[in-house]
Amino acid sequence: MANLNEHYRDLKDSYLFSEIAKRVDTFAKAHPEKKIIRMGIGDVTLPLAPAVTEAMHTAADELGKAETFRGYGPEQGYAFLREAIRDYYAKNGVRLQSDEIFVSDGAKSDVGNITDLFAVDNTVLVPDPVYPVYVDTNIMDGRRIIYMDANADNGFLPMPDRSVHADLIYLCSPNNPTGAVYSREQLAEWVAYALENRAVILFDAAYEAFIGDEGLPHSIYAVPGAEKCAIEFCSLSKTAGFTGTRCAYTVVPYALEQTAADGTLLSLNRMWNRRQTTKFNGVSYIVQRAAAAVFSEEGIRQAREAIAYYKGNAAVIAKTFDSLGFRYFGGLHSPYIWMECPDGMKSWDFFDLLLEKAAVVGTPGAGFGSNGEGYFRLTGFGSREQTEEAMQRMRALLG
Ligand SMILES: *Cc1c(COP(=O)(O)O)cnc(C)c1O
Repeated sequence: MANLNEHYRDLKDSYLFSEIAKRVDTFAKAHPEKKIIRMGIGDVTLPLAPAVTEAMHTAADELGKAETFRGYGPEQGYAFLREAIRDYYAKNGVRLQSDEIFVSDGAKSDVGNITDLFAVDNTVLVPDPVYPVYVDTNIMDGRRIIYMDANADNGFLPMPDRSVHADLIYLCSPNNPTGAVYSREQLAEWVAYALENRAVILFDAAYEAFIGDEGLPHSIYAVPGAEKCAIEFCSLSKTAGFTGTRCAYTVVPYALEQTAADGTLLSLNRMWNRRQTTKFNGVSYIVQRAAAAVFSEEGIRQAREAIAYYKGNAAVIAKTFDSLGFRYFGGLHSPYIWMECPDGMKSWDFFDLLLEKAAVVGTPGAGFGSNGEGYFRLTGFGSREQTEEAMQRMRALLG
């Protein structure tokens, strides 16, 4: 008989998006005439940029010819893409070697897979509210999780508590779901804490391309010392609309080492390389060529246009909330607006109100953790027209 990993029984049902779908479905059946506007889902809507699809076509043609056909590529990613990513980091003032960058099919898989490198007896620190992947992947392994409060008082940017020890720390900036962004000084405090605790920071930078202020860090490596204590995850999903195309990258610096029980220094870069070469066979050549095109001059310009469009939607939401006197976070360097539900309403009550009275769908904050109760997430990933329409309806309902 096969004994199972019973930690899976400790997982809570991922009830959030299925419950939203269920309630929306019920409403749609009861009111077939109502035009529902979905502002809840964290997926992009604009098509891939021309520079990207052109690169995909060219790569497909190469694979169709004997002289340029390619089979397995390097598990870590082709040099042309790793170098393009290295140069992109350099533009933001961060110097990496291309062998510190590992290309993959997604930041979600890498964030989950990275737990392979860490023993089960580590204490894991995660913010609440949180992107659920950080929590569930550690529950699956049976690690102890402690939560830090993100709330209105700290601007949804929790800072280290020296009285608490953690071994693994998850940070996400710009944050999903709150849209909050850490400053360089704040990240420096986290790096100092991690170095004091010999902890490893797992930094999720999936929304770095939404940062519009030169003073805000795109990468944790903007802080000196981070290369000794942090792994960074980034993705082309939100940067360039690759949610369906699939391409991401993870940085594991050479300087990142931890001491083994017998005193030997172990390199996390070597471990991750070994993990990936054993369990992963790389991203398709076509997708890697498409990804490299994102980092070309033209690709960066086109990707920025799409991001400006989404941020424009977020600005429409922010302007409406300013005039309605609603309190909210995010929206400036992020596609997400994290609003306080009006009149002290609970997340799901506000969800029902908005659905039934305005046919607008958002995401109840309570679904991201207990500190999300009383909050609501809206996204700028829709069309401008629908965003404006949704705001008119909210104004009529709540103004
Ligand atoms: C969308 C998102 C990602 C990207 O995941 P992919 O698997 O690369 O699509 C990573 N982290 C967060 C917090 C996200 O919201």
